[in-house]
Amino acid sequence: MLKVNHLSFSYNKTPILQDISFEVLPGEHVSIIGESGSGKSTLLKLLYGEMDLDHGQIFWKDTEVLGPKHNLVVGYPFMKYVAQEFDLMPFITVEENVGKHLSNFYPEEKQKRVEELLEVVGLTDFAKVKVKTLSGGQKQRVALARAIAKEPEIMLLDEPFGHIDNFKKHPLRRNFFNYLKRNNVSCVVATHDKEDVLPYSDKMIVLNEHKILEQGTPMSLYNHPKNKLVASFFEEYNKIDEEIVYAHQLKVVNHSEMESVIKKSYFLGQTFLIEAIYKGKSIYFHHAHALEEGETVFLSISK
Ligand code: ADP
Ligand code: MG
Repeated sequence: MLKVNHLSFSYNKTPILQDISFEVLPGEHVSIIGESGSGKSTLLKLLYGEMDLDHGQIFWKDTEVLGPKHNLVVGYPFMKYVAQEFDLMPFITVEENVGKHLSNFYPEEKQKRVEELLEVVGLTDFAKVKVKTLSGGQKQRVALARAIAKEPEIMLLDEPFGHIDNFKKHPLRRNFFNYLKRNNVSCVVATHDKEDVLPYSDKMIVLNEHKILEQGTPMSLYNHPKNKLVASFFEEYNKIDEEIVYAHQLKVVNHSEMESVIKKSYFLGQTFLIEAIYKGKSIYFHHAHALEEGETVFLSISK
């Protein structure tokens, strides 16, 4: 398993991460969330051994992951890292990129393997296309396929679907994470997208102000957010008498103490997000249909 013990890191004396400790079990999927600039990408680079730690240690099983001061060639065979800005070879085809590190000793098996990988990322039709002609999202798929080609034991993914458009994101995510699970590949995913986390992560780690603010299963953090930052990652929320209440936990009732006046309705698809004024401030709740501006409604918390 991956073991991170009291990791600290600074860029030129500016502290970025302080006293970070966590574990990733074999086959476990862990997501790292946090606001932009909170150090997610830095943490992944450190896990990969791209930079030296100020303090602490990183182990994969019995091997200590060391930075460039102690390890001339960055990276380890059991680990693959897909950076936020992936680098591919533009002048060769998709299948050549994906098969780049696969042995040529059994060409038929290599071909089969490449086909399987292209299917996982939905690029079968692009096998013979030169990478330089692809869109950002397609390139990202090539990078993902190439990273899993040699079956690493652990994958480090930095915003792996950041360039993929919404039309294709859901099936790609499903295929890719299910593929990793089936093959018992551990993974650490830096993301700002709750859709990467809720259905697919066994554990999530929240970074804030250089430290781990919270870690736990997505379900426990979602159901009992102790912190506004964690709640805001998932959904629109309100703070009512010091309590965090998600917008979907407020309902319109016949009568209650919570009298509010409708300000605006936003269509979300399955439901509307309604903004109303309660005690002089905006409050947000979900409702099956839009409500008239100026209308008075009574709300009740139902968790
Ligand atoms: P995230 O991925 O969560 O957005 P990063 O790990 O990229 O955050 O960045 C964390 C902080 O470190 C930011 O304040 C960023 O400006 C800073 N940073 C990132 N890379 C470097 C670098 N090479 N040199 C100096 N500061 C950096
Ligand atoms: Mg980043």
